[in-house]
Amino acid sequence: MNFHVLTLFPEMIEQGLHTSITGRSLEKGTITLHTVNIRNYTVNKHKKVDDYPYGGGAGMLMQAQPVYDAYRAVVEKISERKGENSKVPRVIYLTPQGRVFNQSMARELAGEEDLIFLCGHYEGIDERVLEEIVTDNISIGDYVLTGGELPALVLMDAISRMVPGVLGNQESGDTESHSNYLLEYPQYSRPEIWHDKKVPEILLSGDHAKVEEWRLERSLEKTQKLRPDLYQKWVSENEEYFIRKKNREERKKRNERKKEKKLVF
Ligand code: SAM
Repeated sequence: MNFHVLTLFPEMIEQGLHTSITGRSLEKGTITLHTVNIRNYTVNKHKKVDDYPYGGGAGMLMQAQPVYDAYRAVVEKISERKGENSKVPRVIYLTPQGRVFNQSMARELAGEEDLIFLCGHYEGIDERVLEEIVTDNISIGDYVLTGGELPALVLMDAISRMVPGVLGNQESGDTESHSNYLLEYPQYSRPEIWHDKKVPEILLSGDHAKVEEWRLERSLEKTQKLRPDLYQKWVSENEEYFIRKKNREERKKRNERKKEKKLVF
């Protein structure tokens, strides 16, 4: 996965991504990062990249020219590597007006070879350049930040985790919260007893089937309590789970009744 970021603050992106798991993936080359300072592409002799919005209103707007030229430079670099007729990469504009980001979007975007992120600042970016280059408008939530750099880091972090080889154990990406509507089950590490609280016995039993069953039950409980909206989605797609569970419980009760009868006679 190759990330290209168009920004006025490349140092923010570089520092953010060169940390922890994403930092190690950059070193290994599982992901790559190419930041482009939009300011380097302005034709304004004072290096200005913003101006007042037509029609008045608060704040300044990033101008179309430097954003477009920075974008063209990135596209040219990619086509040098991949060939003239290669697919033009998707351009994600981080904006509070976009579709709110989620795990399935992260998974889907992780399938791309190159992604270009466009970070706005001030009051945003001249609409004309957005119309020409942006393929996806994505928000990280219904609130307004000062710039698109933190949202770009949020997306790159979540997308990276879906890229094979980034997580030590790929399984951890598949069983986590939001991978299938369910929130992850509670987890425990050493010591076995902490503040008088003991790790659930089943996790020490070594019985993998029982542990899996326990984890699913706890995931369901947690999701029902914390995110009833997600729980309903899971229930509607997994009705057979409850039928099987009911059958299992009835079988267990029947067996217990049989045992009791045998003891009486
Ligand atoms: N005037 C814009 C509006 O009302 O839609 C908001 C501009 S905001 C102050 C500056 C930049 O921060 C945006 O261009 C965008 O790149 C980024 N940004 C702010 N909030 C965001 C969010 N919730 N998700 C993604 N990007 C955001």
